[in-house]
Amino acid sequence: MDGNLTPPFRCVTCGRTLGPQDDVRICRSCYFQGKLWEPDFKGLLAELRAIPGVHSAALEHTGGGCWALIVRAAPDGPYVMGTEAFQDDPGWGWDTDSILPKDHDGPWAVGAYDAESEPAEGLDLLMPATHETFTAYVRGWMTKLTEAG
Ligand SMILES: [Zn+2]
Repeated sequence: MDGNLTPPFRCVTCGRTLGPQDDVRICRSCYFQGKLWEPDFKGLLAELRAIPGVHSAALEHTGGGCWALIVRAAPDGPYVMGTEAFQDDPGWGWDTDSILPKDHDGPWAVGAYDAESEPAEGLDLLMPATHETFTAYVRGWMTKLTEAG
């Protein structure tokens, strides 16, 4: 029992009181900030946030039922996006979907984009990636951004 089975219901991540009509256990704000899944990605988010030059690393709602881990060098501008990588059949190529993998180890599909959301020059989509190769990709991206001035 989680002690949250009778009204007033409270958000599981911030404790805000939810309306009696709500059949959810998380408030709208925390939901759209990906707070529900943040514990599953805590290690990777911390590693990414520790990379010099990284402004933010966060789970972001990208529309519909879609989510991504987005790493930014500034509030607006170039970014790296990580989503789940999958294979329809073992032995075939990897593909990606606009959802998060089950946890921080992935498999991830990681890509770098410019401020207009076009793929960044000189950095191919990386998949499948683990949390180590995701972190290495972001370090490489940050080096390129720094060199580009
Ligand atoms: Zn909340």
